[in-house]
Amino acid sequence: MQQFQQYIAGAFDDGSARFESRDPATGEVWAMMPEARQDDVNRAVTAAQTAFVSPEWAGMTASARGKLLLRLADLIAENAQVLAQLETRDTGKIIRETSAQISYVAEYYRYYAGLADKIEGAHLPIDKPDMEVWLRREPVGVVAAIVPWNSQLFLSAVKIGPALAAGCTVVLKVSEEGPAPMLEFARIFDQAGFPAGVLNIITGFAAECGAALTSHPKVDHIAFTGGPETARHIVRNSAQNLASTSLELGGKSPFIVFEDADIESAVNAQVSGIFAATGQSCVAGSRLVVSNEIKDEFLALLKQKAEAIVVGAPDDMATEVGPLCTVGQRDRAIDLIEKSVAAGAAIITGGRSIGTEGLFFAPTIIDCSDAPEAPCLTEEFFGPVLSVLGFDTEEQALEIANDTNFGLASGVFTRDLTRAHRMIRSIKAGIVWVNTYRAVSPIAPFGGHGLSGHGREGGLRAALDYTKTKAVWLRTSDDPIPDPFVMR
Ligand code: NAD
Repeated sequence: MQQFQQYIAGAFDDGSARFESRDPATGEVWAMMPEARQDDVNRAVTAAQTAFVSPEWAGMTASARGKLLLRLADLIAENAQVLAQLETRDTGKIIRETSAQISYVAEYYRYYAGLADKIEGAHLPIDKPDMEVWLRREPVGVVAAIVPWNSQLFLSAVKIGPALAAGCTVVLKVSEEGPAPMLEFARIFDQAGFPAGVLNIITGFAAECGAALTSHPKVDHIAFTGGPETARHIVRNSAQNLASTSLELGGKSPFIVFEDADIESAVNAQVSGIFAATGQSCVAGSRLVVSNEIKDEFLALLKQKAEAIVVGAPDDMATEVGPLCTVGQRDRAIDLIEKSVAAGAAIITGGRSIGTEGLFFAPTIIDCSDAPEAPCLTEEFFGPVLSVLGFDTEEQALEIANDTNFGLASGVFTRDLTRAHRMIRSIKAGIVWVNTYRAVSPIAPFGGHGLSGHGREGGLRAALDYTKTKAVWLRTSDDPIPDPFVMR
């Protein structure tokens, strides 16, 4: 049985309690994890706060911080395979995906390493002749970063990278579902040479660990990725300390295909949009909105490709769809599909678990043409389940696309340039992909609105979001201050 430890103040320990982690492909317990309780959370936040004001970190130049982040990026690249294997083992995410994604995660740290000494303040052309006024950009302080189990190395990189570049310190709480890769990441981070306490990595359960961290009086900012219901708890807890929040939540993203699209290419993008990562992706294009002119042709090809998908062991390079991560997700998928069928939706393919061992679920397509109220059109599955609606006009396509409380991602497939621009302008989402889907880069901001949250990760702006401004006023006149009762 493999054993993992938490990382606080530059040291590793077993945590106040231990819990079991199961392999989603076999259902077997394969590792023991450290469970952080109130006391561990306090130690982690105190370590982050101590580091934040320490001469080793607060006194370090921005360029030196950037060099440490570069060293970390190199270490991640060197250890990408080990991290990928652990993520695959503990979460069931297929090795094909974890290998590629983790290698690319190093680029996120490189990007923020480069930005560290480019986070500039500003000089203001103030309207008073005897004053110099400028803005300093200072780190916001102690950041509580909370991530879900899917794509943890990526989702934590978009928090840790900009936060450390800006000079903050971080307590990262990783999900209790599959924490292994992030606890191993702690060992890699430890080798990079950051001062103790700059990053602390713990895991634990919502009721004690999550609540203690998000209501902690010494936390200045909470960067959260997860579901909208959890976000509501977190926002309530943040009120204790009035900590600021950035929230990256779920989605029910529309994938819109017009009759003039390159069908083969759009079908491939739709396969990637809903079946890659076993559909356990916040940006999953889980609502296909397709022109009725090509609907039958499109669905026939999509069904053929969905049924040819290799579902299997996540550590096999040939596997394309692995198991779901948790029993709860599988049960939710079954329940939502049953309710949708009862509402009149028709299953085109899939719609069921596969086998009795592990949490495998068949790639699923559901036609909702006769069931516009079916819950599969509005609820996030976080699994390989696609819901389909047809449209006749561009206005209808837009209406269906925007008929959601989420607003994270969207895809538009058309070769009509002016129509593409009209759609880009009117779609309610933080990301619009045109004739492509699921493309990401450290340079491009990522995030949504509505139930998909607020704030952006990735890009220059994200580093600025980990800073606050301080307005500095300096009087340049040696004359005595005139009338003290007049505001100047
Ligand atoms: P979740 O909200 O259940 O859990 C996410 C994290 O929050 C975990 O670490 C969990 O332990 C912690 N948590 C749970 N309750 C808490 C509480 N009361 N206080 C503090 N922390 C608490 O989400 P999940 O099921 O693990 O992940 C799936 C969700 O994440 C989906 O909705 C998905 O769309 C979303 N997601 C969003 C993005 C994005 O970038 N927008 C990326 C990936 C996943």
